[in-house]
Amino acid sequence: MPQLQLNYINGRWTEPRSGQSFERENPATGECLGRFPDSGREDVAAAVEAAASAFESWRFTPAPRRAEILFGAAELMRERKEELARGVTVEMGKVLAEARGDVQEAIDMTYFLAGEGRRQSGLTAPSELPDKLCLTLRQPHGVVAAITPWNFPMAIPCWKLMPALVLGNTVVFKPSPYSPLSAANLVHILEEAGLPPGVLNLLFGGDQAGARLVEEPRVAMVSFTGSLEVGREIAAYCARYGKRVHLELGGKNAIIVLDDANIDLAIEGSVWSAFGTTGQRCTAASRMIVQDRVAPAFTEKLVARAEALVLGDGLDPATDVGPVVNRQQLEKIERYMEIGRDEGASIACGGARATGDGLDRGYFFEPTVFVDARPSMRVAQEEIFGPVTTVLTCSDLEAAIEINNGVQYGLVSAIFTSDMSKALRAMERLSTGIVYLNAGTIGAEVQLPFGGTRGTGNGHREAGQAALDSYSEWKSVYIDYSGRLQKAQIDRHAGDEARSG
Ligand code: NAD
Repeated sequence: MPQLQLNYINGRWTEPRSGQSFERENPATGECLGRFPDSGREDVAAAVEAAASAFESWRFTPAPRRAEILFGAAELMRERKEELARGVTVEMGKVLAEARGDVQEAIDMTYFLAGEGRRQSGLTAPSELPDKLCLTLRQPHGVVAAITPWNFPMAIPCWKLMPALVLGNTVVFKPSPYSPLSAANLVHILEEAGLPPGVLNLLFGGDQAGARLVEEPRVAMVSFTGSLEVGREIAAYCARYGKRVHLELGGKNAIIVLDDANIDLAIEGSVWSAFGTTGQRCTAASRMIVQDRVAPAFTEKLVARAEALVLGDGLDPATDVGPVVNRQQLEKIERYMEIGRDEGASIACGGARATGDGLDRGYFFEPTVFVDARPSMRVAQEEIFGPVTTVLTCSDLEAAIEINNGVQYGLVSAIFTSDMSKALRAMERLSTGIVYLNAGTIGAEVQLPFGGTRGTGNGHREAGQAALDSYSEWKSVYIDYSGRLQKAQIDRHAGDEARSG
């Protein structure tokens, strides 16, 4: 039996009190990658206790000092980028070049947030009264529960941990059971960079461990990235108990291709956005909304490119598309093939598990394009989260925008057109949190806010300086140095009344 990895609680690598564990396999080969704790109620309580105890001293550690530790962690990630990237590929399957991108995003985010150690600036404003100052301070919430999915096992934890930590929160981090290796790698780095005990705690485990963490009374904020269904459950719980909650949920993102677009460029953007990361990105383009006149040529080229993609182990440089993450996901994608056919859509390419050449050992699905589809069909409405996209046709820009906005999610839209006024009209009217003009749906950078509207979130944003607003709240401070009791709204106007009287 493989050796058990340990939880990290109060600065020590600790055996789970639950006595339970799970194994994770490489989704490309079926090889066992290790055994990890399945944390129980006592483990969750110990991690939260450690984070709660560390909070007072961490929040009063000067922010530039906190940031120095993050900066050191970014340096270590940079040195170990290749090793970290290989860890990502073997546990969740994305090809190595994309895994390097995942790690690079983690590095960029960590440097960016380390810079916030010397900013975190607020507001100073004039007072309506003499000898009085008005200013604001950011305050951390306390213990933050960071619950993450498996598809960006380095970047997404850094989106959450780094702003939480630089602002003075302490954290209990519960990664997905499908990406435990990267979580351990990241926490080892933060430990080595000098985070004091208790400031960051790592709890391995499945969905139940996540649910228990949310329910711990001393957890002040839950930062969750994952599916719509789980996010809504967590939000309902947090509303009932007055916890802050930050949600980043699913997507049903679209690329619009107008008649006047550079079609070859649109095809490049579409292939990358639909099939990159095996379609398992929250920003994946699972709908192509193509204007009637160019739809046949666009579809023909898209299908040819999808058919030519090479499936395989992400460590193999010849591979374009890796496996999907697990058996359940493979079966879910298969079910959508039936759902699509039953609704009347046709499969132009793909549509089945990929086998042969060693692919049977892993969870591979052929890149798939649905055609003859309508916007209301389930395959054009629901998040499938695999290498599957649906081509829809439209008569003009207005129809394209209506189709784009007609889903419950609101993460990303993209439009390819050479008409600047159409591009700018679309930019204003596409109702997603992120819009790309003449690029695919993938390519967010850490300095801009990241997140979606409607079912994709609850109004918060990751990344950029917007992230600071999720992990802190404002304290307004009034400093009166007049030496007398001055009453705002009363003393200021008392003089006016005397004058007018
Ligand atoms: P998931 O919702 O199944 O799980 C996410 C995390 O929540 C895991 O750590 C899981 O163990 C935990 N969890 C599950 N049930 C829980 C519960 N009841 N209480 C607390 N924690 C619980 O999602 P997944 O399959 O890991 O990830 C895929 C989903 O994530 C997709 O929907 C994708 O669109 C979304 N996603 C969104 C973004 C974004 O930024 N909007 C980014 C990446 C992924």
